[in-house]
Amino acid sequence: MKWFYRIIMYSVILVLFGWAGQHQALARVLDDQNHYGANKTKKDVLQVARQYPPGDQGLSEEYHGHQSDRPEAKNPKKAKPPSADNRLVQVQLLGINDLHGQLNVTRKVNGKPAGRIDYLATYLKQREAENKNTLLVQDGDMVGASPPVSALLQDEPTIELLNKLGFDIGTVGNHEFDEGLNELLRLINGGSHPKTGNFAGSTFPWIVANVINEKTGKTILPPYHVIKVNGMPIGFIGVVTTETPTVVVPSGVAGLKFTDEVEAINRNVAELKKQGVKSIVVLAHNPGSSGPNGENPTGQLVDIANRVDDEVDIIFGGHNHAYMNATIDNKLVVQSYSYGTAFSDVDIEIDPKTKDIVSKRAEIVTTFQEGIEPDPEIKKMLEGYEAKVEPIVKRIVGSTTDNLTAKQNENGESVLGDFIADAQRKAMNTDFAFMNPGGIRADIDPGDITWGEVYTVQPFNNELVKMTMTGQQIRDLLNQQWGTRTAILQISGLTYTWDPNKPVGNRVVSVKLSDGTELDSAKSYTVTANIFLSGGGDGFTEFTKAQNKEVGPVDLEAVVNYIGEQPKPFSYLIQNRIQRVQ
Ligand SMILES: [Zn+2]
Repeated sequence: MKWFYRIIMYSVILVLFGWAGQHQALARVLDDQNHYGANKTKKDVLQVARQYPPGDQGLSEEYHGHQSDRPEAKNPKKAKPPSADNRLVQVQLLGINDLHGQLNVTRKVNGKPAGRIDYLATYLKQREAENKNTLLVQDGDMVGASPPVSALLQDEPTIELLNKLGFDIGTVGNHEFDEGLNELLRLINGGSHPKTGNFAGSTFPWIVANVINEKTGKTILPPYHVIKVNGMPIGFIGVVTTETPTVVVPSGVAGLKFTDEVEAINRNVAELKKQGVKSIVVLAHNPGSSGPNGENPTGQLVDIANRVDDEVDIIFGGHNHAYMNATIDNKLVVQSYSYGTAFSDVDIEIDPKTKDIVSKRAEIVTTFQEGIEPDPEIKKMLEGYEAKVEPIVKRIVGSTTDNLTAKQNENGESVLGDFIADAQRKAMNTDFAFMNPGGIRADIDPGDITWGEVYTVQPFNNELVKMTMTGQQIRDLLNQQWGTRTAILQISGLTYTWDPNKPVGNRVVSVKLSDGTELDSAKSYTVTANIFLSGGGDGFTEFTKAQNKEVGPVDLEAVVNYIGEQPKPFSYLIQNRIQRVQ
């Protein structure tokens, strides 16, 4: 039903504000990071709202869209390739998906630090050293929703680092379309941008078979690419989820048609077969997941694997930041989480007689930092980018004695969620504020708080919207938190209790105002939510019934200002606004 909500959301936004033109949200962050003028048009506002639409923020159940608990990473054992048959050509494919420019971000996996491009680089280089027949592949969403070190420089650092690492082939994810086709093609082919000047582009080919330029009737990039490894041709075909137009700003996908993935793959498999290519790898920016040993595979990738031509051997997946290592209809299907905290190591053997893949196995490797040195060359490049954005990023906006974590407790509430909701309510001067947990992308650690840290928490540049809702609508809204997915809104100005034993749609027991009185169903209240929620994002359609919508500053500015208004340092603990009835 998600598509249904998305359609509603965009219809409502379109009706409210009308169509919008080209825009550069991040450029605006650079120009305008401290003040959002009253002269900003609704068009501007809308454009930013669409920059990071529901698909990605819909990852609400995951903590920052990052899976920190990984059973298979607890006892990692490198799967040795099968007893090498000298006759066969051993090829190693190392893959990443959904990097999102998280070049300098460390995350916890099973309680230990993981990630960063310089650590990932060490892992990739170690594995490459084990097999000279190694190809590096990327499966989309390399850029977009990225931290300042990449975002403030138009994500060029991410492309340059992939170049330096020697990536061989890649496809596009939905986020590559965030700033439109021209910017996507500029990152790949090179070109000039007003913020960053000339850029050389990507040194490896990008492919996508199911995105058609309506003007030319042709794919925007080559649909496939053949790489010869030790004389063995391996055909790669790229596709991106057909949901892309519903999760990307309309201007980003204007004039583009996203066609059925399976049809596009099969059309190009036929073409590759004609050329005698039998070893075929699909790079699909489509979601899927499985248990540690490949059990219970789910998601679009399962359907794709079942329906594509049996000449396809391997499918790399992405988009939902999950683990997948499963064999479906004799195709090996893998995904390696997100943010550079893991990669896929796929070992294949090709029979030189038939040129076909005769064995395949995969391991998903988490990039723990413990016991490993960051790659010095990549680290140096990274430090260069950090220095460039430092004046903006390092500005100290406040300090705290507490760990402001976005981790939700058993009631569904987080310290950072409370704090952000407070900041938004204050910025818009309303009775209540509601914040979607999926829009909170990092924690704030004790100590000085930098602008860059806050940016990493709120990278979506979503405008805040003030609106009027009845008590009944607010009660119904809270009841929309449970359904096919659970997304507990972070709140300010009210408290409530909920009962997990009651049926979905009727779980909210009692809603109280901050003075302790009960919410009046018939009365009207002023409410703040970001423009993503305001449009019905994450399935919160009650917001679309709200009246008197007024657009204010972006979420990032509200939080930065609110931090600035606190004592230095300030203490902030969980507010216990949400209580689950036992
Ligand atoms: Zn994606």
